[in-house]
Amino acid sequence: MDKPLTQNIKPDRSPVTLDEYRRAGGYQGLTKAVTEMAPQDVIAAVKDSGLRGRGGAGFPTGVKWSLVPQGESAGQKYVVVNADEMEPGTFKDRLLMEADPHQLVEGVAIAAYAVQADTAYIFLRGEYHLPARRLEQALREARDGGYIGEHVLGSDFKLEIHLHTSAGRYICGEETALLNSLEGKRAIPRAKPPFPQVSGLWGRPTVVNNVETFCNVPHVIRNGVDWYRGLGRGEDTGTKLFGVSGRVRKPGLWELPMGTPIRVLIEECAGGMREGVALRGFLPGGASTDFLLPEHLDLPMDYDAIMKAGSRLGTGTMIVLDDRTCPVRLVLNLERFFARESCGWCTPCRDGLPWVVAILEDLLAGKGRPEDLDQLEQLARLMGPGNTFCALAPGAAEPLQSALKFFRADFERYLKPASSARVA
Ligand code: NAD
Repeated sequence: MDKPLTQNIKPDRSPVTLDEYRRAGGYQGLTKAVTEMAPQDVIAAVKDSGLRGRGGAGFPTGVKWSLVPQGESAGQKYVVVNADEMEPGTFKDRLLMEADPHQLVEGVAIAAYAVQADTAYIFLRGEYHLPARRLEQALREARDGGYIGEHVLGSDFKLEIHLHTSAGRYICGEETALLNSLEGKRAIPRAKPPFPQVSGLWGRPTVVNNVETFCNVPHVIRNGVDWYRGLGRGEDTGTKLFGVSGRVRKPGLWELPMGTPIRVLIEECAGGMREGVALRGFLPGGASTDFLLPEHLDLPMDYDAIMKAGSRLGTGTMIVLDDRTCPVRLVLNLERFFARESCGWCTPCRDGLPWVVAILEDLLAGKGRPEDLDQLEQLARLMGPGNTFCALAPGAAEPLQSALKFFRADFERYLKPASSARVA
């Protein structure tokens, strides 16, 4: 990552080996942290770098780490990698773990040193078999190389990293449901606050970050804060993996500077729309974001810029809607996913999502009623922020509410006269 990549990133048949990783400067960040820096200096560097969480929410990473209680009296602490990548359209962490697993191991080790945790868990999506094998091998090599274990690089710092594979539920990617799952409990979200940094795994202070976030950390420490900040083109710092799926010429994943205009990603990297179709809109960061329109193509891919335009950067993996795909069917497809994956803990999510699905199915079957569109809008509001423990239902409401706003005529096209009433 010394130079931001712009080529389409594809996993090789074999991952970067330990030797290759070391030759490219791998584990120099960890060496520098453990031998030259105090833990609080590492936290300060990550804070100053401006690195924001790459899981989707963009919370400042260094701020998160600085909230972990410090000192001897703080007791047992944990670091947890959220590798339960299951957001529709999102495939960035899989590529990172398949192609360069040591980068993640090094980032986790630096984080653990920074907050003085001696145990870390990688919570991996159950279906990610190849990343699991590659991470297991990387962990073995890192242990043999002295990068994790009893005396990391000959120091007093010790660290064990365990790989834990998930049973395959979307809700396990919500950080507190993930912690419950790791503890062997039912995967339901906990109320926040307290945030995991204060009370996480088994009630102990725990740093939970996304795979891609950890993968940025070795580069920040090795190359310095100024270098990292200088990579960004706009408000946000560093680089990020951005992806495109849908009817573009070259769907894929690219590492680009933060702040790169969306147009560069869709038109240059992904080659623009396929022959015979035009861009109608796109979800900028996985399925649980609001649609944006072609008029937004010149926005920089920065967290706040996308927020100001009415959506969220989310995972940065864009789902493109073309003019020959029905937005109502696309939204139904997403809402079915969210309804199936609801853990059932909160009423608006458990009952609201199947209701949305039923209305959309009736609409598409020609059994819609004029009041259904208002009902969908009302349900989207009920599932919105503040009414549930976690972001699943509010996220599911985003493509629905924005599709109703931008593509209302497509919904109205399915409406039939009120003769065919449906019992909700
Ligand atoms: P959030 O904004 O509640 O929290 C983000 C992070 O910041 C969390 O780690 C949280 O603990 C921390 N945080 C937030 N406010 C804090 C505070 N006041 N003090 C201390 N820490 C604080 O978001 P979330 O519910 O964790 O995540 C939602 C995001 O996840 C969405 O943006 C969505 O795009 C993304 N997502 C990603 C995937 C995936 O597969 N990568 C799947 C589903 C959702």
